[in-house]
Amino acid sequence: MRTFISVACLAISATLAQAQDGAELNLVKQILAEAQENSFRNNREYCGYLVIKPNGMLSATSITKGRKNSCLADDFPEEWTPIASFHTHGAHVDNESFEIPSYSDAEGDEEEGVDGYVATPGGRLWYIDSQDREISLICGLGCLPSDPRFEEYPEDRPPDFFTYEELRNYELEG
Ligand SMILES: [Zn+2]
Repeated sequence: MRTFISVACLAISATLAQAQDGAELNLVKQILAEAQENSFRNNREYCGYLVIKPNGMLSATSITKGRKNSCLADDFPEEWTPIASFHTHGAHVDNESFEIPSYSDAEGDEEEGVDGYVATPGGRLWYIDSQDREISLICGLGCLPSDPRFEEYPEDRPPDFFTYEELRNYELEG
């Protein structure tokens, strides 16, 4: 009986987790789609956090305009629990690529104990799972609005998945 109950509970919590993930993904896609337009216009990163408010509702902080290659989100009320960071990677710049999360993005999320979402000039959406230490592409080129100036040669196409260590090595190898 005990086995039966725990299996049933697992099934229920898995369903809840999926529903939560779906809502989380929809929200972050909506926010980042909007932030992309400003990113391209101003060539700045935009960032914020997905949070759980005290009433249990999933929500987001206001969006902060950062710098060309960094963004520090504004403070938010202590009662809000951050679950994931999100940021854009600015506009397309010729001969440079911002199509994958940086190792410091992944490290920062791990230090803060949150996951992360990153939107790129090519419209890629990445997920940083800081607990499993894995970075994966949620959806590829043009999934979010992309910078009209964006171009990518096939040989420059990045892998769709990295462990933290793989990402660090990929960066080091340039
Ligand atoms: Zn980044």
